[in-house]
Amino acid sequence: MEHLIIAIDGPAGSGKSTISRLLAKRLGIQYLDTGAMYRSVALWLKEQDIDIDDEEALNRAIKSVFIEFKNQRVLLNGRDISDLIRTPEIDMLASNVSKIACIRQRLTGLQRKIGQNMPIVAEGRDMGTVVFPDAHFKFFITATPEERAKRRQKQLAIKGETVLYETILYQIKKRDKLDSERKIAPLMPAKNAIIIDTTDKDIEEVLHQILDYIKVYKNGCKGDLL
Ligand code: C5P
Repeated sequence: MEHLIIAIDGPAGSGKSTISRLLAKRLGIQYLDTGAMYRSVALWLKEQDIDIDDEEALNRAIKSVFIEFKNQRVLLNGRDISDLIRTPEIDMLASNVSKIACIRQRLTGLQRKIGQNMPIVAEGRDMGTVVFPDAHFKFFITATPEERAKRRQKQLAIKGETVLYETILYQIKKRDKLDSERKIAPLMPAKNAIIIDTTDKDIEEVLHQILDYIKVYKNGCKGDLL
């Protein structure tokens, strides 16, 4: 692979998005949020009122989806939908549409194209296993469901939303089950991934741990790949 690819996978609320974003910034490379892509497709299908069991309609709809990342915003067919895709409803819808083969195929293709054009920190569920099996670094970031639910509740509170801890924990476990038990590209660590449990760690600590792994490599061939 020509460009540096760092694959970061893990379950919802593990801290992988924050870590990936900070890591990309620290290395001066692009951050690819593939969850946002699945969320955008989920929103699009909802807005178009597409039945996800109607294969023909799905195939048609997925061809008319154009997703771009600009200035840390997500554009769906040119429209900024960054805030619309961060709701509990889209959390669940995205998990449901992400098990559909034609959707995964299309998004996997788009993600690989981005990785061919520039060095990236690619974050998702199947970056190290399916999309970028030859990534230079693979990390699997995890934490207990209870800790992840606590973090999600805090994030929602910052946005002014009060949601019961038990409700969030239930949804997190449900998404974990959907994501890890699906037939195509299930959530799991790649065989050669470095697994980091963030339950008792803060973001900076995890970031340093990852940067330490990368440092040796960067010192050796930064000029070639960054
Ligand atoms: O990471 P995020 O919570 O934004 O992802 C939303 C959903 O998109 C996940 O629950 C998962 O079902 C799906 N997803 C996926 N593969 C990826 C990224 C996200 O299946 N690479």
